[in-house]
Formats: sequence, structure tokens, C-alpha cells
Amino acid sequence: MQDFLREYARNFLNSRLMDERRSLPPALISEFAEAGLLGLQIPRRYGGQELSHADMKRVFTQLGAIDANLAVFCAVHNTLGIPPIRFSATDAVKDEVLPRLAGGQALVTSAISEPGIGSHVRGMATTASRNADGSFTINGAKKWISLGGDARYVNVFAKLRDERGRPQGITGFLVDSRTPGFEIGPEMLTLGLRAVPQYDLGFRNLRVPRSALLGQEGAGLDIAKTAFTSGRVVLAAMTLGAAMRSLELAQRFTNGREIATGSMAENGRIRELLAESGAGVQAAETLLARIAAWQDAGEDVPDAWFFCAKILGCELGWSAIDNALQVLGARGFLDTNTVGQHFRDYRLFRIFEGSTEAITVYLGSVFARKPDEFADLLGPVRPTAPILDLVDQVARISADRPEDPGARHIHAALVGELVCWTLLTVVTGETAHRSAMDAYTASWTEHQLRQRLRNAQLTSHRSLPTLAEFTDHVAGYADVIGDVDQRRWPAEEWRTDPLLR
Ligand SMILES: Cc1cc2nc3c(=O)[nH]c(=O)nc-3n(C[C@H](O)[C@H](O)[C@H](O)COP(=O)(O)OP(=O)(O)OC[C@H]3O[C@@H](n4cnc5c(N)ncnc54)[C@H](O)[C@@H]3O)c2cc1C
Repeated sequence: MQDFLREYARNFLNSRLMDERRSLPPALISEFAEAGLLGLQIPRRYGGQELSHADMKRVFTQLGAIDANLAVFCAVHNTLGIPPIRFSATDAVKDEVLPRLAGGQALVTSAISEPGIGSHVRGMATTASRNADGSFTINGAKKWISLGGDARYVNVFAKLRDERGRPQGITGFLVDSRTPGFEIGPEMLTLGLRAVPQYDLGFRNLRVPRSALLGQEGAGLDIAKTAFTSGRVVLAAMTLGAAMRSLELAQRFTNGREIATGSMAENGRIRELLAESGAGVQAAETLLARIAAWQDAGEDVPDAWFFCAKILGCELGWSAIDNALQVLGARGFLDTNTVGQHFRDYRLFRIFEGSTEAITVYLGSVFARKPDEFADLLGPVRPTAPILDLVDQVARISADRPEDPGARHIHAALVGELVCWTLLTVVTGETAHRSAMDAYTASWTEHQLRQRLRNAQLTSHRSLPTLAEFTDHVAGYADVIGDVDQRRWPAEEWRTDPLLR
């Protein structure tokens, strides 16, 4: 698969054109299906590749290095779309649907986000009601659904009510997009990832049979979790692939570039910038490899590791891309150079499938409530005594939970960040002996954790301006910048003229 992708990138792909046209090449689906890329972890009996987690990570790092559009296209289908069916659909549905998905005859996505909710999944407004004949009727609206207008199947999550209107919990349904009542709304025009379309979707009295149920009634959040768990690692793997590609280009540039101090590659500040970016990428890579190895050994990996992979993989990868862009100087700012496109495309990864803030605060609030459970998180990893001392310090900061709700959010964010850096320090400590770069990465990671610990001790109880004070402050901007809302929206020109409808 890696060979196929490398050859595809060299000889058939034009990322720049794809970005400009906002569309994927027409032959892509059939070629990717033939190469096995549309059934990466589907069992072989359904025509899939049954890849291990470690191999899945390698494929997505490769895809990410080539183009975020290809990578996200494959991720939506393979990690958001397929797992809920693989783990929770009935055998008859699996027999019918999985071979079509693996063969590229149909695509699948998941629809969770709505106009009124994003990170706060429990607040969704889409409803499903159980009918007397056992079928369900779905009503509501979803937003930002990648491939939503193209996928034949959509995993729709809705709040279920029984025949008497009593709430039964969030439930997942596999919806065939050809069902009457399935409405495809406008496509969103995004800053990056422009070749993967995102749509609004609507469900108007959409009726699905009982066999469309994904798992048990009311178990929708657990089903969605199967999608997010693998999705989080995969998003991190893609970002790190792009970061490696960006750093490769930056390093090449510095080798041939002269600056005031002589060779740019020899300049201490530039070497530091690149080495730190490389350390961040290597640390996150080590974390992903550790998680994949555990998963492949059949171990139960605690959720916190997946959150940590998503947060740090996407943050450190994106920061490396940003640094590579800076090192490239004016060339970095050109839209036609790969790094600029990565900069736009991978910015999204800090937002979707759990934004950095939402999941850091969540992670921190879990450990702030149960600081004693923090050490258990390390599982089979055996840290050295100095690192165990850092683990203790993090647990102590977690336990120091403020009373004020606003201060609690800040405390939870600090704790969540500390938990992530602790796990990273622990795994990079394990591999420090492998090479000089591994040793540098381990000491850099530990230094980052120590700095954050110091920062947490200094700032956890700092007071903020009140909401009213800050609102007043922002209202004052109008005196400086005036009313500059543009009344001519570009989309108006793209709507069909009413007289031509
Ligand atoms: C290109 C693209 C593709 C997407 N594809 C899909 C898809 O296929 N299926 C799907 O269901 N969804 C999809 N989404 C939606 C995506 O998952 C959501 O945008 C994401 O969950 C964030 O939700 P939101 O935009 O509503 O932000 P909100 O949840 O409203 O968050 C707004 C801000 O508040 C912060 N925030 C949120 N919660 C907290 C908290 N507890 N503490 C502190 N800060 C917080 C966030 O970090 C963010 O800065 C896609 C989005 C985009 C842009």
C-alpha cells in the first residue's frame, strides 16, 4: 500500500490542482479500492485488508505526508464510518454492506455534529422515535458532515424516544442516503481540506427499519466511541506524516541557503527550531507506536491515551508544520509550496473529532476528580524514579481543585495538559537509548513537562477579568474599527436565480 501511494503521489497526483478545484480526482475511488485502501481494517471474509493497528498507523502517516485530502477521505470512510458497522450492525447488515464498502461501491460517513452542538455531543437535538411496527422515524439536522452528500451510508446519531415519548438515550442508526426524507443541504466552503466536501444534512420523517440499529438502543455514545477511538490516533498519524514532509523540505532548504551568519543549516537558532520540531514529531510518533502495539497485543488501552494521542499528535505536528513554514521564509508563504497547503489543511486537525480545548478540559476534569487513578494509567510502562516523582507532582496539582467553576475549567485544562505531557515523557523515556535523536527527544519532552509543572504551580489560581468587563472591553473596539460587516455575501452570487428555478 505504501508503494502504491508513493507511486500514486509521484505520477498521478496534483495536490495544488485538487485544492484549487475543490474536488478529488474521478479515478481515485476505484484505484484506492483496488489498492485495498477502502477496507483497511475490514475482516478478510468481507473483502477487507484486516490491517493491524500498527500497519493502519503506517498507512495514515504515509497518506498524511502526501495530501490531507486523500488522508481525510480515507479516514472518514475507514475510521468514522466503518467501525460502528463492523462492531455494532447485525450480521445480515454486515454481510450486505461491508463488502460494498471495502470494494468502493459505496462510501460511509458518520453524522454527529449539528448546527446547535459540536463538542457537546450529549446536547444533540436530532430525534428518533420508535414506531409500533418496530421501525424508527428520524427528524433533525446535522452539520459539517464530511462526504455527507456523497456517501451511500451515513451513521446517524439521534436521541431516541419510545412509543410514549419517553427518552431512551442517544442511539446510532445506519441510514441509506437514498431513503425518502434524507436531505442534502449546502456544501461548506472550508479554509483547507478543500477537496473533501462537507455538507449540511436534514432528516424529515426519515423512516428506517429495526435492522438499521447500530448496537443497543441508548448505546449510541459507546458506538460513536468506536469511531472516535481509532479516528483520534489516525488523525495524529496523518498530521505527523505531514510534519515529517514539511520538516524534510525545510531541512533541504536550509542546506542550500546562505543567511547573514553563513550557512542557514549551521545557524544555532535555526538548528534549535528544527530539532525541537523534530523532537515533538518523534515523541508523538513514539506515543502512537506504543498505543498501536498495545492494541495489537489485545490489551485494553485506557481512553486517556487516545485523547493524549489526538491532542499532542495534532498540536505538535501542526506546530512543526508552522515552524517549517517559518524556516522556508517567503517560500513558506507561497500557496504553491506543499508546506503552505499543509498549514491550511492541518489547522483543522486541532478542531475536529474533539477540539484540543474540549478534550484537554475533559481529560483534566476526570483526573482532577480522581487524582489517585493517575498512576494506574501508566499500565505496563515502568518509568524511572525521577519520572515517577514527576507523576506524583502531577497527581498533587490535580488534587488541588479550585471551588470557583471558571477557575475549575482552567485547572482542568492545566491538568489535562500535564497528563498528556506525562504520558509522552514516560514513553519517550523508554526509547531514549535507541539513538542520539531519541535521547534528545526524551530530554526535550521531560523539559517540556517540567516547564509546564512550574507554570501550573504559578498560574492555576490567577484571576481573570469578569465576563462583563471583557464584553465591555470588546465593545470598545467599535470606536477603533467601526462597523465593517460586509453585506454582500459571496454565496448570494452562487445561488440559482429564482427566475431560473
Ligand atoms: C472540515 C470539517 C469536517 C467535519 N466532519 C465532520 C463529520 O464528518 N461528522 C461530524 O459529525 N462532524 C464533523 N465535523 C464537525 C466537528 O467535529 C466539529 O466542528 C467539532 O466537534 C467542534 O465543534 P464546533 O465546531 O461546534 O465547536 P464548539 O463545540 O462550539 O466549540 C467552539 C470552541 O469552544 C471550545 N470548547 C468546546 N468545548 C469546550 C470545553 N468543554 N472547554 C473549553 N473549551 C471548549 C472549542 O475548542 C472551540 O474553540 C467537521 C468539521 C469540519 C470543520
